[in-house]
Parts: sequence; C-alpha cells; structure tokens
Amino acid sequence: QAGIAIHHAKEAGRNTLRFFNQDMQDIINVRASLEHELRIAVDKSHFELYYQVQVNAAKQALGAEALIRWPHRKHGLVSPGKFIPLAEVTGLIVPIGRWVVETACAQLGEWQKDALTRDLSLAVNVSALQFRQSDFVTQVQAAVQRHAIPPSLLKLELTESLLQEDIDITVATMTALKEVGVQFSLDDFGTGYSSLQYLKQLPLNQFKIDQSFVRDITTNSSDEAIVKTIISMAQTLHIEVIAEGVETEEQRQLLLACGCTVFQGYLFSKPVPMDEFEAMLRDDQNMDKTL
Ligand code: C2E
Ligand code: MG
Ligand code: MG
Ligand code: MG
Repeated sequence: QAGIAIHHAKEAGRNTLRFFNQDMQDIINVRASLEHELRIAVDKSHFELYYQVQVNAAKQALGAEALIRWPHRKHGLVSPGKFIPLAEVTGLIVPIGRWVVETACAQLGEWQKDALTRDLSLAVNVSALQFRQSDFVTQVQAAVQRHAIPPSLLKLELTESLLQEDIDITVATMTALKEVGVQFSLDDFGTGYSSLQYLKQLPLNQFKIDQSFVRDITTNSSDEAIVKTIISMAQTLHIEVIAEGVETEEQRQLLLACGCTVFQGYLFSKPVPMDEFEAMLRDDQNMDKTL
C-alpha cells in the first residue's frame, strides 16, 4: 500500500513526494517517541492497575480482573489496546508483565487483611512472550510467596493463540504453575481454534466467553448457539464459564439460562481504581454484591 502511495505521489510531482515522506517520517517519529516514553514508564513502573468486578448468579462479587493503564502526561490514561501491541513487539511486555504479576500479588496480599476482600480472586492477563520466559514460573511463585497469598486466588488469563504456540512448552509451564497452585482462565474463548481434544490436555479452570459472542447474544441465534456449545464443552471438561462484556440484564438472563455461572461487564461495573473498587464493595453490601 505504501508503494502505491509513493507511486501516486511521484506522479503528482516533487513537492507531493516530499510531503508524503514527511507523513511517513511523522509516523516513524511518533512511534519512536512512544517507544521511548514507554521505556521510561517501564523504568519508573509508571502504570496503574484498574479492577473490574466478576460476579456470580446472585450478583455477589467473586473477584476481579486487573487491567493495566498507562498514565501519560499528554494523552491521559492510555488504554492497553494502544500500547500493549507496541510493548509486545519491543519486548517491553516482559518487564511490564512482571510488574503486573507483582502488583496483583501485592493487592491480593492487602485483600487478605480484610474479611470483606479475603476470598476474592484476582485475574491477570498474560502475554505470550511473558509466558515463554524461562523464569516465568519462578517469578509467579516468588510473587505469591513474597506476599503470602493463597495461590489459588491468583488467576492467569491466557489466550488460545498463546497456548497453541508450542504445546509441549505450554503443558510443561502450565503444569509447573499448577504445582504452585495458581488458576488458569482461557481468555477471549471462541475466537481461536481450540479443539476439545487439545483443551483436555491443559489444566484450565475457566473458559472466558469472548465479548463478541455476548454482544449480540439476544439477537443473533448463531452467537447463542456458540455460547451454548462453549458451555457444554466446559461442562464436559468440568470447567467454570465466565462471560465477559455483559452490558444488559437481558444478556445476563440469557447467559444464565444457557448455564453460565460467572459474569463480568459494564452491567456490574467498568474497570475502576482500587479505592473505587473497595468503596463499591463496601457500598454494595446491602445490594448483596459481596459474599
Ligand atoms: P481482555 O483481557 O479481554 O479484557 C476485557 C476488555 O473489555 C477490557 O478492555 C475491559 O475494559 C473491556 N470491557 C469489560 N467489560 C466490558 C463491557 O461490558 N463492554 C465492553 N465493550 N467492554 C468491556 P481494556 O481494559 O481496554 O483491555 C483490553 C485488552 O488489553 C485486554 O482484553 C487484554 O487483552 C489486554 N490487557 C489489559 N491489561 C493487560 C495486562 O496487564 N497485560 C497484558 N498482557 N494485556 C493486558
Ligand atoms: Mg482478560
Ligand atoms: Mg477477554
Ligand atoms: Mg477480549
């Protein structure tokens, strides 16, 4: 595409060509400065975790998913969709991921001090490159021990594509982590190509139905059929199912009828900073949001 654009620019004359090159240069500059700023943020651990509640059928809080944010002086709070891909290609996801695991375990450690939060689980997203680091298992184990948390409260969210990269390494790493005692959730489930045959080899605790199936579940019968298939696969494998991106009571009702037992989405809460998350738990006590 760039080649075609250059060709047209040449036809239009020298000035246009120079102008086009300037555009290209701008893109390269923005990318380079963003990468430079991301490196500085990594050095200073200048990130925040937001927390989105996960609830059971009675709308009681079971735990949360930790979602990273990058506070940027010019761009405000940068969402992970905007910088995680850059972090992945530059390898910066490795130190970022380490910070996420450490911060999540520290938070679980804090939660242990309060009866209101003691039993809540915390899910963190794990990138492929992070999962493939030879010291990943040691890292997770060290963080769990350092903060003296029950390991089963930490849930690692993995994606189908991550798991399929190298089945032998995947099974070995997951088995070692299972010994540590952490849980596994298969994130964005349904968007990849996992077979039952493949999935039964993995020590998964939860399937997380991708929000793309939840979005139109009340109007699109094939989405409903896919959700039902995922749930029956999960039941066969004795795996819990959580639906993500639940925005309406109608979606929740239908998911419930399909056999889904855990829910996450704007219907309950958007991702919020920890002080807001804890305030929400306290405020909602009368609304039965906590166990
Ligand atoms: P994900 O793990 O699938 O997270 C779900 C995303 O959906 C989050 O976006 C969340 O804010 C959003 N969401 C939750 N409920 C609803 C809803 O009801 N409706 C809609 N439309 N969206 C909802 P977010 O926070 O922007 O994160 C995007 C993705 O970035 C995550 O997708 C995950 O893949 C990645 N990510 C986030 N934090 C981390 C992290 O710490 N490490 C890594 N490696 N990736 C992360
Ligand atoms: Mg996730
Ligand atoms: Mg997801
Ligand atoms: Mg998703």
